[in-house]
Amino acid sequence: MKVAKFGGSSVANAEQLKKVANIIQSDADRKIIVVSAPGKRNSDDIKVTDLLIDLGEAYRLGQSHEQELQRVVDRFEAILEELHLSKDVLHDIQTRVRKIFNDGNDLATKLDAIKAIGEDSLAKILSEYLVSLGMHARYVNPKEAGLILSDQPGSAQILDESFKLIHQLTKHDEIMVIPGFFGYTKEGKLVTFSRGGSDITGSIVAAGVKADLYENFTDVDSVYCVNPQIVKNPKEITSLTYKEMRELSYAGFSVFHAEALIPAFKERIPVCIKNTNNPGAKGTMIVNEKAETNQAVVGIASDTGFVSLYVSKYLMNREIGFGRRLLNILEDEGISFEHTPSGIDDLSVIIRENQLTEEKEAIVINRINKELKPDTVYIDRRLALIMIVGEGMHSFVGTAAKATKAFEEADVNLEMINQGSSEVSMMFGIKEEGVKRAVQSLYRVFFEEN
Ligand code: ASP
Repeated sequence: MKVAKFGGSSVANAEQLKKVANIIQSDADRKIIVVSAPGKRNSDDIKVTDLLIDLGEAYRLGQSHEQELQRVVDRFEAILEELHLSKDVLHDIQTRVRKIFNDGNDLATKLDAIKAIGEDSLAKILSEYLVSLGMHARYVNPKEAGLILSDQPGSAQILDESFKLIHQLTKHDEIMVIPGFFGYTKEGKLVTFSRGGSDITGSIVAAGVKADLYENFTDVDSVYCVNPQIVKNPKEITSLTYKEMRELSYAGFSVFHAEALIPAFKERIPVCIKNTNNPGAKGTMIVNEKAETNQAVVGIASDTGFVSLYVSKYLMNREIGFGRRLLNILEDEGISFEHTPSGIDDLSVIIRENQLTEEKEAIVINRINKELKPDTVYIDRRLALIMIVGEGMHSFVGTAAKATKAFEEADVNLEMINQGSSEVSMMFGIKEEGVKRAVQSLYRVFFEEN
């Protein structure tokens, strides 16, 4: 059995839904379908979820919200007309919105209920459409599917007991269309995952039914080994391990968030990323283990917006508890850190810029000076991290040499190198302005030479 998840661009309009129906029809193993809300039809368009957020916002501000509601209804109406389906769903949306705004729930709960209308309506429409094409399909609400979530509106988490319930879906043999992005608390309150959460639903359902394959349909043929906005027509990755995917997506790889895949990874369900607009393309497989490869590096990722907090003190290596006290200060200020490369007398803590406001920076520096009495402490902003990733790396000689040569050729100074804690990646810290040049040069060295 396969679980197939279709993202926002795959369900953006009637034409896309026809492709989705063809994909479902072409493989009898595609039994469980998870859908997003309609996304953008072109680059200037607005996602239905964003229209719903606007609707909630107008309500929150006490403004009239007829226009916002109409925009949502119009999106669905256009789809229904082209697919020759009944317009009952439109009436449902209007009554539902009215009901949500008038119920006694708190604001966060109301806003979640509004946001979920996109996925929910689309799942109903798609199942009706499949039936109209003669398929044996039905809409399954996440409550019926067994998605029980924590009571955290807007960022709910799946509860462990869900998986057993979800497994019951395997008893049915029709095609089941489940809306992504939301579930219900134990008390029966609707709550959503964080944005992009349909991927989370897909992965949870795949894990729950122990699918043979979790297919994630999007709008690219495959995952590329480097950001196509930095390198033109980069090579495609045909196969990737979970670990490689995690490392790449940490550093800004955009196909999707690795966290969303954790439930599928835990159950070792293979994941395939495929293109709704070109379903014949092989896509990228993400698997637990890969056969031996002749390739050290599978991908290069980069992300900006880091700062380095540098502390040095003579004989730091002998001062017991120095590191702990430093990290304690960060903990007290509610700052999470990413890496801590260290020397004998120095320690840097790499932090995401959004964690360290100027106000917090002053407090932290002040406390470090007072409590740790360092020789030097300063903050370096506008740093970028570049990761080269590949399970094959540990068995190849000279990967680091090749990488540093690439930085040299790009005339980019290395602020930091970190290898060792992870067997599958090497991380380099540089100034933000050098990122593009460095990534292009790394691509040349690892993917174009030889
Ligand atoms: N529709 C939701 C969003 O735009 C969830 C998703 O598409 O995955 O964030």
